[in-house]
Amino acid sequence: MLKKDSLRYSFAILLIALGWGTSQALAAQTPNTAGITQPGAEWLNYGRDYSEQRYSPLSDINSDNVESLGLDWSFTFPTKRVMESTPLVHQGVMYVTTNWSRVYALDATNGTKLWEFDPKVPKEHLINSCCGPANRGAALWEDNGKTSLFVGSFDGRLIALDAKTGEQQWSTRTVPENSHYTITGAPRVIDGKVIIGNGGAELGVRGYVSAFDAATGEQLWRFYTVPGNPEQAQESKALDQALDTWTGDWWKVGGGGGTVWDAMAYDPELDLLYIGTGNGSPWNRDIRSSGGGDNLYLSSIVALRPDTGEYVWHYQVTPKDSWDYTATQHLILADLTIDGKQRPVIMQAPKNGFFYVLDRRDGTLLSADAYAQVNWASHIDLNTGRPVELPVADYNETGGSLIWPSPFGAHNWQPMSFSQQTGLVYIPAQHFPGYYSPDKKFAFKQHRWNTGVDFWGMRIHPDPIIAKATADAIIRGYLTAWDPVAKEKVWEVEYPEASNGGILSTAGGIVFQGTGQGVFNAYRADNGDSLWSFETDSGILAGPMTYAINGEQYVAVTQGSGGTIVLAAGRPRPKDPSNPNRLLVFKLNSSASLPPSSPLESQPEVALNAQTDSKQIELGEKLYERNCSVCHGVSTESGGVIPDLKLMDQNTHRDFMGIVLGGAKRHTGMVGFYETLDHTQVEAIHVYIKHQTNVVREIDEDSWWNKVRYWYWYWSSKLGDEFPWLANAMRDTIMEM
Ligand code: CA
Repeated sequence: MLKKDSLRYSFAILLIALGWGTSQALAAQTPNTAGITQPGAEWLNYGRDYSEQRYSPLSDINSDNVESLGLDWSFTFPTKRVMESTPLVHQGVMYVTTNWSRVYALDATNGTKLWEFDPKVPKEHLINSCCGPANRGAALWEDNGKTSLFVGSFDGRLIALDAKTGEQQWSTRTVPENSHYTITGAPRVIDGKVIIGNGGAELGVRGYVSAFDAATGEQLWRFYTVPGNPEQAQESKALDQALDTWTGDWWKVGGGGGTVWDAMAYDPELDLLYIGTGNGSPWNRDIRSSGGGDNLYLSSIVALRPDTGEYVWHYQVTPKDSWDYTATQHLILADLTIDGKQRPVIMQAPKNGFFYVLDRRDGTLLSADAYAQVNWASHIDLNTGRPVELPVADYNETGGSLIWPSPFGAHNWQPMSFSQQTGLVYIPAQHFPGYYSPDKKFAFKQHRWNTGVDFWGMRIHPDPIIAKATADAIIRGYLTAWDPVAKEKVWEVEYPEASNGGILSTAGGIVFQGTGQGVFNAYRADNGDSLWSFETDSGILAGPMTYAINGEQYVAVTQGSGGTIVLAAGRPRPKDPSNPNRLLVFKLNSSASLPPSSPLESQPEVALNAQTDSKQIELGEKLYERNCSVCHGVSTESGGVIPDLKLMDQNTHRDFMGIVLGGAKRHTGMVGFYETLDHTQVEAIHVYIKHQTNVVREIDEDSWWNKVRYWYWYWSSKLGDEFPWLANAMRDTIMEM
């Protein structure tokens, strides 16, 4: 039976994702302070410790007994957006952040709330986000017996709280007023210095990372990742050296980019802070740096002195980045034996699809191998350290290309994990292409995305069943177990959709990972066998963590869909469209259940006249893809976290102009577009949305032909796991039907 709702849901495009604080004593790699008797009992930094391995030495929960793991308690937050946060646990207290940069302190044994803090981020700052008002976590630092907690707010403040009471100690603005920067990443604290970066390269900013005094909030240093106006003095020698790699007017057309929005790691022995830098702004290098050039230090791993911010070395992962191929992905430090030699390495699986192993003393490239599907480069030349690009990658030349990976990356912000037990790195990977075409009429626009790529090229097939079949055929998620010494995949788990959760590995021989569909899984770390799973009511994207109190081990993870748009046509929406934001905490032999969620009321269908002006529909589609799709979904297929415009009620239709032009819903984060769109254009967008709504309703009609096609699609999707060849043949047929 071809149900309206099931069809609408099933081809939806899901909107899914897109510190360690320590006292001097806690600064040890494995903290062991008073009251902590079990190694690894606490989780003191975003990636557990400075090495960011996300490997826990706890083994009470292990591959032999994990099947008796159950929910011990949960905590439901009042927010409804994407959850990317990894909680910290210190002295029996769990510190967890939510979207909109809120902070909660909970009793880590039972979830009793001790305090909460809301930095009251102005909702209209949401227009500056690439991927929702996410926050990945806080940082702890202890000085003279006083513990402070640090959090970056989405609108660019760094805030210090008393960890006991949640009272604000200080707040420092780390970005210029009314700028397009956002903070989503967790701070790190090194020797009393709080390190924080920011994001915003899609809108046009210049990337940097800064250090602030943990006690006072005073700024100690700032390292810019890209040069400013070449006529003016640069802020560092490193930038003087980078100037040669830039041409054109980058400081006017987008600021260059290179934001440090997520990954950092620290080696206390070498006293080096490692940062990962983001994509170019705009994305299209030929617009950003019109006379060519590699554009240092975009998409690079950079080593700095944490005391001064002084540059030590860099390795550029993606020279002349044109594809939003950030190198902000998780950085992991480990010691590996390579060719019989012990090497201190730094590892990364950046968006570009290659897994990099570098000597972290000086940045020497040791290996770089594809861990996912790539077609932009054939390989990385180990002699030059550079990718060997293939012609398809140059979309300015081809006029438009389908390129693997997409701007969402073969791996995004979801943390990976390195197991000291297996020596494997577990990557939340995805195979997912993007259609890149140049924006031929590019002009820098304030308060808007400035990519130099025409998003109209990314629209999906107007026939939803074909769109579903296409997505099934080309989009996949993976948990990939990668051997960084042998430079090969050891095992993998395949998921039917991209954008799944971050990873935790433990000495219990287990790897934990949630999925975008809301299933929390445990696998054997050595061979990937499925050991246990728990079904919840919204997507799990964040990295799980583990801790122990009074000799009992707990595993915790936050849930909540949203974030970057992932083209996942053909997937069900979150089970509960209200997208419950929760913290789930598991223990052996527990059997708590989730509290009931409060599903949104379904809206009555609004009667719409047929939209017949094809010119207006086409104009509306172009304007929609270029102005609205980033949040509301490609071709109006939203994942449900941001409103699906095809489900607008009568009032919203009536107020459409006031909302889109005037900003009547500014308080929700939907600002007015009066600076960039005019009345006629907004009308065309409205007509296009009404057209799309009618198209979906039409397809929902119970015609026998659509029933056949839908049935055919359903089975191609069901058979995909067991008989991929048959599923592919069926998908081909659907595309011909
Ligand atoms: Ca980006």
